[in-house]
Amino acid sequence: MAELEKINSFDMAKKQVDIASKYLNLAPGFVENLKVTKRELIVHFPVKMDDGNIRVFTGYRVQHNVSRGPAKGGIRYHPDVDLDDVRALAMWMTWKSAVVNIPFGGAKGGVQCNPKEMSLREIENMTRRFTWEISMMLGPEKDIPAPDVYTNPQVMAWIMDTFSILKGYSVPGVVTGKPIELGGSLGRFEATGRGVVITALETLKYLKRSIEGTKVVIQGCGNVGGVAARHFNRLGAKVIAISDSQKGIYNEKGLDVSRILDYKAKNQCLVCEEKEATEITNQELLELDCDILVPAAVENQITEKNAPRIKAKIIAEGANGPTTPEADEILNDKGIFIVPDILANAGGVTVSYFEWVQNLQELIWSEEEVLDRLTRIMQRSFKEVLDLSLSKKIPMRTAALVLGIGRVAEATRLRGIYP
Ligand code: NAD
Repeated sequence: MAELEKINSFDMAKKQVDIASKYLNLAPGFVENLKVTKRELIVHFPVKMDDGNIRVFTGYRVQHNVSRGPAKGGIRYHPDVDLDDVRALAMWMTWKSAVVNIPFGGAKGGVQCNPKEMSLREIENMTRRFTWEISMMLGPEKDIPAPDVYTNPQVMAWIMDTFSILKGYSVPGVVTGKPIELGGSLGRFEATGRGVVITALETLKYLKRSIEGTKVVIQGCGNVGGVAARHFNRLGAKVIAISDSQKGIYNEKGLDVSRILDYKAKNQCLVCEEKEATEITNQELLELDCDILVPAAVENQITEKNAPRIKAKIIAEGANGPTTPEADEILNDKGIFIVPDILANAGGVTVSYFEWVQNLQELIWSEEEVLDRLTRIMQRSFKEVLDLSLSKKIPMRTAALVLGIGRVAEATRLRGIYP
């Protein structure tokens, strides 16, 4: 695991707003308003555990901004979740929805827990009680959760069921990333990983390079990292390293991605079975010589400490907030092309939007239709960010923030300040 110094993600997110604001003509009070969250709820709640004891958990739901539409953002189950993490992740959701120009605001939620040490029944009890605790903030027109780290379609099904019981009728549009049987969208599970790959392909096109034989390193092999790895592999790239929270596996000649991921899915651990593969740490993995590095795990992985040693030519950020602003400067000086998180991983919220639209209109789109719309939105957004980056001579991250924050600021200006 990468040695994590505790960096405050919310401070980092606010710093990014300051950097982008220099390129936007906004009144200081306006900028201050964008740097605070709209609504925050902290809940402490009891859950019956399998041994008969009661454990108290702490959970959060934060809405950052709803100027452009209902609040939207995942729910994370992780021991390190705290209020500032959730605030930062909610803010990034606001900018992300605006970058891909879909009518959502930004939110995030989380429960401080270690789901790896809990039974399925305990996770279900905790999910249902947490949903009840935050239910006053949720609803298809208000705030729509989705999966994030260590939550999945089953957790979304329990949230949808609990919320529906409270209402007295089925409300599929209250969450996205649901199982297909409950109104989930075809293509949603793959959407974030697919989106990362689409933006990496656009980068290669811009840099006049081919995907064939491109060396890819992926940190994290969950929803985002796993799907991206399989898709890169299918397109002819060589995935030379992949990791989970414990360790990484490296083979310079390319890994048998499907075999590794199938084993991980069955046995919950990465195993190095290939003769020429070796085990490495997450820290070593980030510093491997490769063409494309995809951090797809958690925040603050690339800091000023390891940025000087990063050798990738392109970084496509599957995770939210994997790179600190200090590291950004170092990577930019080194000429590394960064596809920032609020662009690279926006495929998830884009197909979540498709799922929500299908739920509200009681429609079912085909997988081809979903992938085709996703591809067009990701390619258009990439071009808009790249054009802004080239015309203003600013890094891709600053350009994405200028585009996203600019759209949110314009929506706020048009709505006006009440009263
Ligand atoms: P996941 O739970 O499916 O997978 C997380 C992966 O990260 C696992 O392989 C886990 O072993 C690994 N991991 C956890 N802690 C780690 C650590 N300290 N060091 C190295 N690896 C670690 O989660 P996910 O949905 O794939 O989310 C991954 C990232 O992508 C998060 O930053 C999340 O916010 C972001 N994201 C997810 C989606 C989505 O649709 N799921 C959308 C946008 C962004």
